Amino acid sequence: MEFFRVYGRVLGLLRDERRLAITLALANVVVAALQFYEPVLFGKVVDLLSNARNETTATLWSNARELLALWAVVGLGGIVANIVVSLQADRMAHRRRLGAMARYFEHVLVLPFAFHNAQHSGRLLKVMLTGVDHLFGIWLSFFRENLATFVALFVMLPLSLFMNWRLALLLIVLILFFAAANAWVVGKTDKLQARVEDHHSELASRAGDALGNIHLIQSFVRLAAETRELNRIIGETLAVQYPVLNWWALLSVLTRAASTITVISIFVLGTWLYTRGEASVGQIVSFMGFAAMLISRMDQASGFVSRIFFQMPALADFFRVIDHQTTVPDKPDGIDPGRARGDVDFEDVSFSYDGLRPALRHFSLHAPAGTTVALVGPTGAGKSTALSLLHRMWDPQSGTIRIDGIDHRDIRLESLRRNIGVVFQDSTMFYRSIADNLRIGKPDATQAELEQAARLAEAHDFILRQPQGYETLVGERGTTLSGGERQRLAIARALLKNPPILILDEATSALDSVTEARIQKALKVLMKGRTTLVIAHRLSTIRDADQVIVLDQGQIVERGGYRELMEKGRVFATLVASQQIGTESA
Ligand code: ADP
Repeated sequence: MEFFRVYGRVLGLLRDERRLAITLALANVVVAALQFYEPVLFGKVVDLLSNARNETTATLWSNARELLALWAVVGLGGIVANIVVSLQADRMAHRRRLGAMARYFEHVLVLPFAFHNAQHSGRLLKVMLTGVDHLFGIWLSFFRENLATFVALFVMLPLSLFMNWRLALLLIVLILFFAAANAWVVGKTDKLQARVEDHHSELASRAGDALGNIHLIQSFVRLAAETRELNRIIGETLAVQYPVLNWWALLSVLTRAASTITVISIFVLGTWLYTRGEASVGQIVSFMGFAAMLISRMDQASGFVSRIFFQMPALADFFRVIDHQTTVPDKPDGIDPGRARGDVDFEDVSFSYDGLRPALRHFSLHAPAGTTVALVGPTGAGKSTALSLLHRMWDPQSGTIRIDGIDHRDIRLESLRRNIGVVFQDSTMFYRSIADNLRIGKPDATQAELEQAARLAEAHDFILRQPQGYETLVGERGTTLSGGERQRLAIARALLKNPPILILDEATSALDSVTEARIQKALKVLMKGRTTLVIAHRLSTIRDADQVIVLDQGQIVERGGYRELMEKGRVFATLVASQQIGTESA
């Protein structure tokens, strides 16, 4: 059942080109039927020749001419149709393969952090590449082989019953044996194959993880350990794969033996029937031809079934990703308020990552447009969580977040995120030029705009010092730049985006004082005129903030202005005194 479901689903992906697919399918059925007519013609020729002595030369030639003409039409028609079909089918399969890849890619890109955190990107890539390759293979097999096999089973076999039912029964027995043997082996191997596929995915995750952390591996001298681990997984994969291969080898032996026995039986039964005058030589020849063709069809079908079973877990993985529903749904009739003013409100927001331990409890906050809110508190207090809820990396289990008074779940996701700029303390970069990385903020930015933003972000000088200036390629995830440089590029990127609301995560790591001062200056420029929610570690930022919110274990424990909180002399004052905040001299 699972087989038919997956097969149906794969063919269903051709929906976008439904008309062409149906035309191709029908044309294919015609091609296949013509192909199967050949053994019948062959039989007729043999009968004509074996009766030749009883006919006049004129009748013989007239019959022969008829047959030859028929044969020429069938043969030529088949060849032409075949060329057209295979060409079109191939093009369609290539088109749909890339189409499926684009669909997967788009889908994965909009899936929320919650999904990506639980998946390794290497695995996601492997699922995509393997998945679309399998889809491609199935589509091609469908048009090139499966339809012909279908015609063989449901058109040719019933027709052969009319030609000679005894010989036809032999063919039917052969088909039943093929089907039963396949079903048996599939039953024995499908669970094992799923395990093989799990191992393959583990291999992809592991290799992807290692390649993505090459610095870590080299600096911790993990080379041997990582290779050993990879070899261990390879060993396990093969250990599960071999028994599956044994089963399929056994199937191949069985079906080959059955085929040979069938051909011999047709010969023996045919000869016996011939001696009793119940079959012609031509019929025996036709049935031999049928048997040969059926055997090759069934071989193909059995190869196809085994392949699809090998591929089933990978296809299931592909569809699982495609079917994954986002946990931050974008309303179809969502509002696009254009550029927001920037009022931000959290109303009694509670959130838990796992549904058990709360990461944020009854969090409320009112930030009028253009003001700055500093979030402080120990690690794990829920500061990042609160901010990630604002741009809908997750949706809270209860409570509401409003932008300019509108529930942010009613705003189109794209519009919401266009209004919010994010500068993380460890900003990542694309493996592209510096200019391209900056243009993420504003795709149509001119060179002058890029430079202006870079100047304001104190990044222009160091960019010019790069070998190719703005066109210098940034290493994967920005590894060729220092932390401070990456941060300034991120600030320039946010300046280009120019959003009314800003989410900032101040760096905790100490930078040298010159860089530090430049970043502070750049951040000040960036924050000007925007509603800013900042995870603050520096006293200067906290002092300048309009309100300070102190979080602990997901709850607000104190709020107010810097002076007010210091005067209170409670949690905030203690944090400052214990130097848990304030990484620069006050
Ligand atoms: P802070 O930013 O104040 O250091 P976080 O908001 O990162 O705190 O974390 C709040 C709590 O939520 C912590 O207990 C943390 O372990 C947990 N947490 C953070 N991110 C995740 C995540 N992606 N999945 C599960 N738990 C998380």
